[in-house]
Amino acid sequence: MKILVIAEHNESELNESVFKVISAAKSWNGEVDLLVMGKNTVHVAQKASKIKDIKSVIRLDGIHLEHLLAEDAAKIVEMLSNNYQVILAAHSWFSRNFLPRVAAVLNVSLITDVLKIENNNVYTRPIYAGNVHAKIQSKDPIQLLTIHTSLFEACARDGGNAEIIKKDTPPAMNLTSWKSEKINKSDRPALIDAKIVISGGRSLGSEENFDKVLSPLVDELGAALGATRAAVDAGYAPNEIQVGQTGVVVSPELYMAVGVSGANQHIYGMKDSRVVVAINNDPDATIFQFADYGLVADLFDAIPEINKLIKE
Ligand SMILES: Cc1cc2nc3c(=O)[nH]c(=O)nc-3n(C[C@H](O)[C@H](O)[C@H](O)COP(=O)(O)OP(=O)(O)OC[C@H]3O[C@@H](n4cnc5c(N)ncnc54)[C@H](O)[C@@H]3O)c2cc1C
Repeated sequence: MKILVIAEHNESELNESVFKVISAAKSWNGEVDLLVMGKNTVHVAQKASKIKDIKSVIRLDGIHLEHLLAEDAAKIVEMLSNNYQVILAAHSWFSRNFLPRVAAVLNVSLITDVLKIENNNVYTRPIYAGNVHAKIQSKDPIQLLTIHTSLFEACARDGGNAEIIKKDTPPAMNLTSWKSEKINKSDRPALIDAKIVISGGRSLGSEENFDKVLSPLVDELGAALGATRAAVDAGYAPNEIQVGQTGVVVSPELYMAVGVSGANQHIYGMKDSRVVVAINNDPDATIFQFADYGLVADLFDAIPEINKLIKE
């Protein structure tokens, strides 16, 4: 049994999620290889080779892989797929961009957001925004999965000495081209790994308020900032901090939902949080059903007051 984990990285570091996907991959008790593709993967492949639980690092470089386009990434996975019975990646923007294409080309199902891996290619996965967990079995010759990483422990980062195998990169497909990207740089912890997440909703009313009201508390607590989709759609917060079914799934020690109504699709992204605090001026807001601590208050009064008390 051979298993391929597709790594997300920034040419310097592997994304945290990779270590969790490798843990998931160990469920098959087979040989696990790690695929690292990009413009320059030398350093990240060297770091990856230290991971104890993998057999080989498969490395593919190409100028056209700098901004990994779905068509080029899918072509590489398709090219390697003959050697593997299982191919998996974290359930993130990265994999969701190209794995549907891989599934179509290989004519197999893509089983997304897997919560649990059981024997005999049986998986538990969420449906209806996580309100129902379905148990399904795939009979496809290649099991193609994305993993709900917050439910898997990270594997050990070192102690291994995996072989690094450089493969030839297929030429660019040239079906789409990369134009530009806007990255919001921040010294705050990454949303997905943060111990504390403070999320704001549409109730903040503007981009300026989002920053002015939430940022002092976020920085005081060393937290990450999150947002609801309604806040993102209204332009109050950037897309990459959206928490929820169509955003990022987080599992911090503390989650603060500030002026958030508690729609299913938002709850999906934060329900694995250890302690949930909700602040809402509507005592009947659904979010209170999911909160360990609830404060019925106007957020514009409550957040500065909480920040003041913490500072004291
Ligand atoms: C297919 C699909 C996918 C979706 N994916 C996501 C997703 O990934 N993430 C997500 O978040 N949503 C998602 N949504 C949207 C989701 O259904 C809700 O619309 C959204 O979560 C609501 O955001 P909100 O709580 O900010 O806004 P609202 O529903 O408008 O709620 C605002 C809340 O703030 C409270 N409030 C107002 N003023 C104040 C104040 N001054 N002080 C305190 N409280 C105040 C109100 O009482 C209310 O409860 C998705 C929807 C669909 C259909």
